[in-house]
Amino acid sequence: MDFELTDEQKAYRETLRAFVEKEILPVATEWEHSGRYPAEIVARMKQMGLFGLTVPEEYGGMAADMVSYALTFEEIARGWMGVAGVLGSHSLACWMIARHGTDEQRRRHLPDLATGARRTAIALTEPGAGTDLQGIATRAVADGDHYVVTGTKTWITNARHADPLPVLVKTSVTEPAHRGMSVLLVDPGSDGFSVSRDLPKLGYKGTETCEVVLDGVRVPRSALLGGVEGRGMQQVLGGLEIGRLNIAARAVGVAQAAYDAALGYARERTAFGQPIAEFQAIQLKLADLATEIQAARLLTYWAASRADAGAATGARVDMEAGMAKYFASEVALKASLESMRVHGGYGYSQEFVVERLYRDAPLMAIGEGTNDVQRLVIARALISGKGHVGW
Ligand SMILES: Cc1cc2nc3c(=O)[nH]c(=O)nc-3n(C[C@H](O)[C@H](O)[C@H](O)COP(=O)(O)OP(=O)(O)OC[C@H]3O[C@@H](n4cnc5c(N)ncnc54)[C@H](O)[C@@H]3O)c2cc1C
Repeated sequence: MDFELTDEQKAYRETLRAFVEKEILPVATEWEHSGRYPAEIVARMKQMGLFGLTVPEEYGGMAADMVSYALTFEEIARGWMGVAGVLGSHSLACWMIARHGTDEQRRRHLPDLATGARRTAIALTEPGAGTDLQGIATRAVADGDHYVVTGTKTWITNARHADPLPVLVKTSVTEPAHRGMSVLLVDPGSDGFSVSRDLPKLGYKGTETCEVVLDGVRVPRSALLGGVEGRGMQQVLGGLEIGRLNIAARAVGVAQAAYDAALGYARERTAFGQPIAEFQAIQLKLADLATEIQAARLLTYWAASRADAGAATGARVDMEAGMAKYFASEVALKASLESMRVHGGYGYSQEFVVERLYRDAPLMAIGEGTNDVQRLVIARALISGKGHVGW
């Protein structure tokens, strides 16, 4: 059994680390507090080809294996989780277009999305439906060779930069509801389309998260993802699977940053004439965190490598991705809080990184399906016999 990354993956991780050390970490705290958009970092990510992570090579993408994909989110989130968010829904939507789009849709969108010349996102959630996606209210009514789309989407990350924006809609109202659901690749320049407001957030700053209004937007039938109605839910669920891997990897990055900060502080801070790292109470926290972070990392790489294996056979990895996302995000929550405790009062200061990690960590327990929902997904896989525990 070989737990090593390949030489290529190691070299890629080193490139990412150098980028994070040099171009993200020095500005993250200041830009995050001021709410500044990380435009220069986004420009560098374009140069590095990171917007093409999930785009096939024939369209100019990197076509990264899923372990390298996870490494990308882990390393960037170690520097600033919000910046990982710039790539997150973009990569998921590129993957969906590559996997499910028609030839014409792939040719039309993927080359620009791979370079970041255009970017994308994903619009599923609505004010009245998040977990229960079959309960969405956005309707697309056929009108000749167009659909007329009406509805409101909320919590849409990267909405102001998305062109096209894949939007989950109901093209017909049927039972079961998922049979009437489709994804439309909406042109943001269309009449009736607006990004109505940026939502104020606890953390996950840097990237914008918005409400989007579609008021009678005319969308050509050629923008129906895959060209066949009724496949939207299936297309989205496949995308969310790799989305959960990216959330798991981001959680590992945030947890690692919290641990690194705790270890560094514990070595330097003295109390009662010795570094606080000498106190057993602090040592126990460090040992717990190091152990749990390494377990989260292994689970995430394992799920990613299962996804690579699944890509070859078409097998889904909902259970594996759900386990990684669930476990790693709980570890990130714990790590950010325990690191704050190690820092004492300074952990509560905006001059130390821990407070940002503490504000960023909860998103990973919510986004791409809440952790309670992940637990249900895992349980269903086990009970149905599709998922197994063991090696
Ligand atoms: C910062 C941020 C960025 C986001 N970015 C995007 C984005 O880019 N695109 C997008 O489409 N969405 C995005 N989301 C939305 C996110 O995916 C949803 O918030 C999430 O899926 C939960 O949906 P909800 O908020 O409607 O909660 P609800 O579905 O209302 O859930 C509320 C509670 O009920 C529980 N619950 C619901 N159903 C069940 C069930 N069947 N069994 C047990 N418990 C249940 C949940 O676990 C949760 O505890 C983002 C959210 C945030 C906070």
